[in-house]
Amino acid sequence: VVRCAQSCGLVAAETPQQCLTLAIRSGIVSADRGLPAACDQAIREIATRRGIAIIEDEVKLAAVLADYLHAAGYVTHTISSGLEAASAVRRLRPDLVLLDLTLPGRDGVEVCREIRAFTDTPIVMVTARVEEVDRLLGLDVGADDYICKPFSPREVVARARAILRRARTRGTPVEIPGLVLDEAGQRA
Ligand code: CA
Repeated sequence: VVRCAQSCGLVAAETPQQCLTLAIRSGIVSADRGLPAACDQAIREIATRRGIAIIEDEVKLAAVLADYLHAAGYVTHTISSGLEAASAVRRLRPDLVLLDLTLPGRDGVEVCREIRAFTDTPIVMVTARVEEVDRLLGLDVGADDYICKPFSPREVVARARAILRRARTRGTPVEIPGLVLDEAGQRA
């Protein structure tokens, strides 16, 4: 397998044309683009797929979290509606999900189950009440960790970092049909 000079992080085929064919088939680039533009699109697209999804309807809180996570070097996506949360996670493919328990449209527990139905991405549930955690543990919703409000954004960053480190050492490449995303290569 040859990695092309554009190094979008996709370990792909032996020729740029085969690489492009795979990228189009997997939906990473649109079919109507030529090669240099397609590479640029793939690089942008992959950049948007990595990071942390903040599912939180309190706009100010989400913004503060995003600021701290940006400062720590993460890409963030804020989703404020419970109804759209799972489909947004499916589309964005974040490395970690911060999920508020009380959301408009759909409860955080339901959202957690929806996300778990299609991905093992780590989920940190954020709840306003410590006693809720026991109930959530009992429900076995599939979350990886719990944080109680009020929290310090620094604490959230520290937890996120720890969970991502754990997830990384599990270290299987992200698979897209027909392609393998070489995360180690991308970080180097
Ligand atoms: Ca809320």
